[in-house]
Amino acid sequence: MFWMLNSLLGCDDMNRQLELLEKAARENRLAHLLLFHGGSALQQREVALRLAQILNCSQLTPQGPCQTCLACRKIISGNHPDVLWLKPLKTTIGIEQVLAWQPKVYLKHYEGNYKVSVIEQADALTLPAANALLKVIEEPPERTLIILSAENAEGILPTIQSRAQLVYFPNLSEATWLTGLGEVDQQEAVRAFQLSGKNQNLATAILEHGVQIVQDWVEKFRTAVDKRDFLKLFALFPIDKNQAVLYLQVIAVQAQAGIQKGIIQPFELLAIGKAIDVLRQQVNPRLVIEVLAIELFQQGGARCD
Ligand SMILES: [Zn+2]
Repeated sequence: MFWMLNSLLGCDDMNRQLELLEKAARENRLAHLLLFHGGSALQQREVALRLAQILNCSQLTPQGPCQTCLACRKIISGNHPDVLWLKPLKTTIGIEQVLAWQPKVYLKHYEGNYKVSVIEQADALTLPAANALLKVIEEPPERTLIILSAENAEGILPTIQSRAQLVYFPNLSEATWLTGLGEVDQQEAVRAFQLSGKNQNLATAILEHGVQIVQDWVEKFRTAVDKRDFLKLFALFPIDKNQAVLYLQVIAVQAQAGIQKGIIQPFELLAIGKAIDVLRQQVNPRLVIEVLAIELFQQGGARCD
């Protein structure tokens, strides 16, 4: 799913940075590898799309891509054969995904001037996947741009990071985030933003998943932990890994708020963080959450009202 290309205007520094990137794209002197990092995944996607369009638009105007030529339209709908998107299938980007992508990068350009690959949530690359990616980065084919999009640059292999031009994206304000969503229920979006602890990427994930579903699950988990009730806990399954990671992230946000108010012990946040890490490494979500609940039971519940 692609977001509308609304203008997600950030601060002046950001705009200046983007101007320079666009200028480099127009003049065909863009780096082969860009690493977008920082808070706003939505804005990162918008900029990646725009650069792909600038590099391939057949009627480029001084204001930017025309948005009407075939290339522009195919890029925006995600159907351009030379603009490739890679993102986690589950919670990680595995080596098989990178190996499937690799030959497409080396194939001749189908239609476009430029091949653009966007790797979203690049901090979710497994180590073997990152190493396979490194091989492409070391010998990039001509007229190829690879954009890595990540929340934290630290999550990217240093050998990849050192070859990239880093572009930092600041956090969006709630209002700017809401504007960039296009046509969604604004009240739902505001609830998602609150539930996320003002983390726009988490808020977007909550919104896509369904605010009520997330809220219900999290509340039931807290009740089960507070009452040390295994039956209530069992009723929360089955869920898949993505759901589990999302729910635990929201529980972590609430725990953080609870610590600040002095009603939650810091160890709980550590236990939740550990559970999220374990979950990302291919483990049964039910097992991880049950182990977490038992840890919280023993320490007297995860109360965070
Ligand atoms: Zn165009």
